[in-house]
Amino acid sequence: MVDPLVIRSLEFMGGMATAAGWRPESSGLPEIAFAGRSNVGKSSLLNRLVRRKAFARVSKTPGRTREINFFRVNGRFVLADLPGYGYAKVSKTRQAEWRPLMDGYLRRSPTLRGVVQLLDVRREPTEDDRQMLDFLADVGVPTIVVLTKTDKVSSRAVVERVQELCRELGVDEEQIIQFSAVSGLGRDELAEAMVGLLEAEVTWERSMQNIVAPDLDGEMTS
Ligand code: GDP
Repeated sequence: MVDPLVIRSLEFMGGMATAAGWRPESSGLPEIAFAGRSNVGKSSLLNRLVRRKAFARVSKTPGRTREINFFRVNGRFVLADLPGYGYAKVSKTRQAEWRPLMDGYLRRSPTLRGVVQLLDVRREPTEDDRQMLDFLADVGVPTIVVLTKTDKVSSRAVVERVQELCRELGVDEEQIIQFSAVSGLGRDELAEAMVGLLEAEVTWERSMQNIVAPDLDGEMTS
């Protein structure tokens, strides 16, 4: 398969730490955001996606785990790495920062074309995951669901999880991509889906008026 997304350049633009704080100028470049609970495998997936081992390290450095980290890819689009949520051992203050940050981000991202929502195939979706999916559906942003760590379970277990997500969380089977950072399974499919989002005409219109971001336990670990 020809690589649908050859990464020629990748540039860290900076991090957004608060709702009203710095974010890159919306230079008109389309944007795709990556979300998931902490430890879901987001860094591993991003490293696979861009085929650069050290890439996601920046998002893991102390202080950056609670920011939205922006990367310019090929000078063509922006990749936004959202902070992980659902981390139990964090202070209430830090948890309380996650929601306004997400809210502020969505309100200030007119060029957002889609969100890639990660779920660990081995785990029941948590209440946080459900809220996040509901929230994305309310906002109306096109969403790709990626099941991570599929190498850790049988293919039957993967199928069962897919069925469960469709049945219980209202996810469409076409939205779901099976992924493994170990084998690389799903990398090209994800890349292709992203190219689809970037090239698609914007058909969704966000109304943030009546929508509030879920009150999740943001990671905010460091
Ligand atoms: P993050 O907190 O969401 O960025 O998660 P990481 O990418 O740091 O991954 C968390 C843990 O899961 C690490 O120990 C990874 O090595 C492991 N991991 C991530 N993706 C995979 C995968 O696809 N397969 C397996 N077997 N382990 C994975």
